[in-house]
Amino acid sequence: MPPFEAVVLGIGDAFTESHFNTAFVLRSSGATLAIDCPDRYRAVLKAASGKCSTPLRVEEIDDLLLTHLHGDHVNGLEALGFLKALVLKKRLRLWTTPEVAADLWDRRLSAAMSRLWDGAAFRECRLEDFFDLRVLDWNRENAIGPFAVSLRRTIHHLPTCALRVRAEGRTWGYSCDTAFDQGLIEWLSSADLIHHETNHGPAHTPYAALAALPAALRAKMRLVHIPDGLDEAASVIEVAAESAAVRVGGA
Ligand SMILES: [Zn+2]
Repeated sequence: MPPFEAVVLGIGDAFTESHFNTAFVLRSSGATLAIDCPDRYRAVLKAASGKCSTPLRVEEIDDLLLTHLHGDHVNGLEALGFLKALVLKKRLRLWTTPEVAADLWDRRLSAAMSRLWDGAAFRECRLEDFFDLRVLDWNRENAIGPFAVSLRRTIHHLPTCALRVRAEGRTWGYSCDTAFDQGLIEWLSSADLIHHETNHGPAHTPYAALAALPAALRAKMRLVHIPDGLDEAASVIEVAAESAAVRVGGA
């Protein structure tokens, strides 16, 4: 059995021309938990597939956690929902916060997914026709298969969750999109491996703020959601490798 691993599907931001958007697939004990759903999702999975312990295919994605509703994190969900429900005849289990759950259908997906033509008539559709929505609790650990998932609010334009995911006695941490937040850094610091965002603007974390953190913390941190042009060679924090799997808390 392969160890708890985080497959880094992409390390780019919303504007990137050099990378895929930042997203992950976690794997442990034969189970899979996808984190966010960027554009061209099958191509993104295929790019990472060759570098994983076992191939990564859309058929394997049954649980997907959505952190927030910005397009670079959610744009692939419409097509994935159609593919799962109409072609693969399955409903994706969609895990998210109460705030995202409240807006997801009415303010994001319904314009494109609420009506289907079956060749003879239109059929009105609801979120439940495509997704098995599971709302996460901010205040306790949430069990998703073998994964124990804790959430923390970040400082961002929209309601957004950072994650700590525990499996096999190891913990993966993810800042998601956030302004620099010392409290969040401390919350993430117990993790064995931390993927932290960096980017420009008031709702993102400046590289300099992370570079000033203690060396021991930086050593288990990998940068994602980077702006194109970040000087990776000069960075004192390793930039995550794109389309590659990394073991959580092990060599
Ligand atoms: Zn965002």
